[in-house]
Amino acid sequence: MKYISTRGQSPALSFSQILLGGLAPDGGLYLPERYPQLSDADLSAMRGLSYADLAFAILSRFVDDIPANDLKTIIDKTYRADVYAYTRNGQSAADITPTLKLEENLYLLSLSNGPTLAFKDMAMQLLGNLFEYVLTKEGKTTNILGATSGDTGSAAEYAMRGKKGIRVFMLSPHKKMSRFQTAQMFSLQDDNIFNIAVNGVFDDCQDMVKAVSNDAAFKAQYKIGAVNSINWGRIVAQVVYYFKAYFAVTQDNSQKVDFSVPSGNFGNVCAGHIARMMGLPIDKLIVATNENDVLDEFFKTGVYSPRGSANTYHTSSPSMDISKASNFERFVFDLVGRDSDKTRALWSKVDSGGNFDLNADGYFAKIADYGFVSGSSNHAQRMQTIRETKAKYDVVIDTHTADGLKVAKAYFDKNTPMVVLETALPAKFEDAIVEALGDVPERPAALAGIESLPQRFTVMDASADQIKDFIIKNT
Ligand SMILES: *Cc1c(COP(=O)(O)O)cnc(C)c1O
Repeated sequence: MKYISTRGQSPALSFSQILLGGLAPDGGLYLPERYPQLSDADLSAMRGLSYADLAFAILSRFVDDIPANDLKTIIDKTYRADVYAYTRNGQSAADITPTLKLEENLYLLSLSNGPTLAFKDMAMQLLGNLFEYVLTKEGKTTNILGATSGDTGSAAEYAMRGKKGIRVFMLSPHKKMSRFQTAQMFSLQDDNIFNIAVNGVFDDCQDMVKAVSNDAAFKAQYKIGAVNSINWGRIVAQVVYYFKAYFAVTQDNSQKVDFSVPSGNFGNVCAGHIARMMGLPIDKLIVATNENDVLDEFFKTGVYSPRGSANTYHTSSPSMDISKASNFERFVFDLVGRDSDKTRALWSKVDSGGNFDLNADGYFAKIADYGFVSGSSNHAQRMQTIRETKAKYDVVIDTHTADGLKVAKAYFDKNTPMVVLETALPAKFEDAIVEALGDVPERPAALAGIESLPQRFTVMDASADQIKDFIIKNT
């Protein structure tokens, strides 16, 4: 299986060759040259597999340059009950991604039982083990440089801590993350994890990462790597739980299922799109946004109009506060019939601050063939959904999941199973839950008092030279 760029001007590469990188050299995103196709018999053989065995059955169709035994070992080491242990509502950790029935045909898919209480652990933990394997095999090292406003940084650090050949330099805006998120990251004492609190906002952190990445000589000499949301390894790992959920809520492969996905960078729902393209019987893929509704606007009108960081709202579902969806190009590439010239032309508009309209040439009319629909939610609706879910089902959900459930209800026809992806546990966003319910949400016992642990971090001004110096001194 080779991987091609959506912009068509980079050579096709293997899985291990694209694993450690980000964008393709032509600025595009990597996708497999074709999606593996699963027959009814393939699906039946997968039904009933454990999470790890299912992950191997799926990932081995995308990875052909890691020996099968090694891939199996990496997967078994990743998807263990003791890694995804923070279950609630009487669920079993052995399921890794248990489903919770709210009412007939309405389910939550628990994806947030990993170490940082958000769905990003599902893919990032695998990436940590894959990175270590590939680097060790090739005798290489990497210095991962990233910027975070909370969820991505913590997931990356918990996945990479203690890994051979890997250092993580994670920039976050000083005093702008929640106390819990700060404590999660800054209490890590591993030698290979460097937390840098930047005097500035998230965009300042991102600008520092960009400035370093644009310095090709520095980037090469210090082996700067990334684990951002466009990483193909993250997307493909997320494909697995769509299958797991499908088998959990159906009896046979003639049934179709709808998924509602709280979305920001379009990574999670892109994995659902790929599962559907492989032949998983998904009817609708529901893209749920918050007030930052660029994607909802696209799926309703055919116009994609990114807003820029100055016009991004800060909401109570902050991990979806994104106005330019970095993985969206992958879907559009498929939608335009994998025409890389067309994709390149569309993104030359986006990259120069413009927008595009897919109503011409009949592209937008084809969206229905891909199952996509969308909706958005706002603060009041989110609070209302959290309250209703508690009152009706005695289940506490977080603000992002609430956006997903709110939008799901508009499409729920009661006959088709609807699975809402739970992208974080409520304990991660305590203040919003207190606002909705008046009570502090339950927190996993192992994380009680995490705010009072000693913290390890360096404060720095928003300067590319300062972070470069810091990397030089610490490698
Ligand atoms: C990252 C994140 C999202 C958005 O996921 P995308 O893959 O960027 O669409 C939603 N909810 C939570 C809690 C997240 O951390």
